[in-house]
Amino acid sequence: MNLSYWEQQSWLSNIDFTIIGSGIVGLNTALNLKARFPKASILILERGILPNGASTKNAGFACFGSLSEIIDDLNSHSEMEVLDLIKRRTEGLKLLRKNLGDEAIDFKCYGGYEFFLPEDDDTYDQCLSGMSRINELLRPLFQEDVFTTRTNTFGFKNIKEPLIYNKFEAQINTGKMMEALLQKVYSAGIKILNSITVQEFSEANSSVEVKTDKFDFSTKKLLVTTNGFASQFGISEVKPARAQVLITKPIPDLKIKGTFHLDKGYYYFRNIDNRILFGGGRNLDLKTEETTEMFQTELIQNKLEELLSTNILPDTQYQIDRRWSGIMGVGNQKGPVLKQHSENVYFGVRLGGMGVAIGSLIGKELADLV
Ligand SMILES: Cc1cc2nc3c(=O)[nH]c(=O)nc-3n(C[C@H](O)[C@H](O)[C@H](O)COP(=O)(O)OP(=O)(O)OC[C@H]3O[C@@H](n4cnc5c(N)ncnc54)[C@H](O)[C@@H]3O)c2cc1C
Repeated sequence: MNLSYWEQQSWLSNIDFTIIGSGIVGLNTALNLKARFPKASILILERGILPNGASTKNAGFACFGSLSEIIDDLNSHSEMEVLDLIKRRTEGLKLLRKNLGDEAIDFKCYGGYEFFLPEDDDTYDQCLSGMSRINELLRPLFQEDVFTTRTNTFGFKNIKEPLIYNKFEAQINTGKMMEALLQKVYSAGIKILNSITVQEFSEANSSVEVKTDKFDFSTKKLLVTTNGFASQFGISEVKPARAQVLITKPIPDLKIKGTFHLDKGYYYFRNIDNRILFGGGRNLDLKTEETTEMFQTELIQNKLEELLSTNILPDTQYQIDRRWSGIMGVGNQKGPVLKQHSENVYFGVRLGGMGVAIGSLIGKELADLV
């Protein structure tokens, strides 16, 4: 692509900070850099026509961990580590709400529920017996019991009862959140170029040379926020994890309201605009789902439909409106990879399944590393 003199001068010269990726982390990093360095020239490069990873694809749970997930995490992390993870998620959610405002993101605190199938006997019993221990662990953060039980008033069938309830869990409108964030970025005078894929970069004399599929240029600092795609740049601690979703058409008199988790967080559903959004099932075929290809598979979509018609909407007529998938970044540890990679290159990746919660915080911390 032959850029004109003007294009080169106005968009690709004297760039202080270049960010790869316009997801929650990339956009928050840009805003925090602008706040610290108001005169800096900041450029965001995004491979998609819209952000094309997880931030515009997710389920919009404003959550910090279901009871079974927290109990499971205690098998591989210490109590202090688990408490710290949850603290960071709640702090991240506060920051998201403060930055954008509850109205702009449609923040609704309808509460969250955990839902167990008959075959989840052991996990259900562990949750009931471990509930008071976890409530005590979380008391310093919430000052009251987080987890209680509630009767099933939603018409779910063939599940263990009562449900486990978390009154602090909320939901947001993912599309509105990303629109509000993008609007803030544009208003701050930060440039975004879409449909540009960064292919490689290299350090060179106090700057970084960046090669894209359309042009090459130089930037003083480079910040990589490509999450599930980070292994492209040699970050082996991050693996892609595809997450598949479906949404129904509007259902008259839908009684289901809230965010719902099943199977240690591997499945999740919520109400939105009188519809049910339902995702998950990656654990049915972890190997195939370790991919950056945004497709759906019959295996997982069929399982989602089976759970929908058997357990979630057993007596309700519904139609599927749309299906999609997004790519998360996961690894052996739950925390993100936040680090200076070389003299002028920084990484903020591996947000796992909680990027709505921690994305704003990681963007701030990445900007503070520079
Ligand atoms: C289906 C699904 C449901 C989820 N549900 C929830 C939820 O309910 N609650 C929650 O907290 N979290 C949820 N998550 C996780 C959350 O969405 C992510 O953790 C978060 O969005 C990660 O943000 P990010 O900015 O790090 O990454 P991303 O949003 O993936 O952003 C990375 C960006 O980098 C771009 N990119 C990649 N490579 C290149 C390149 N070479 N050149 C240019 N651009 C590039 C991508 O196109 C992408 O836009 C869900 C994720 C998915 C997929």
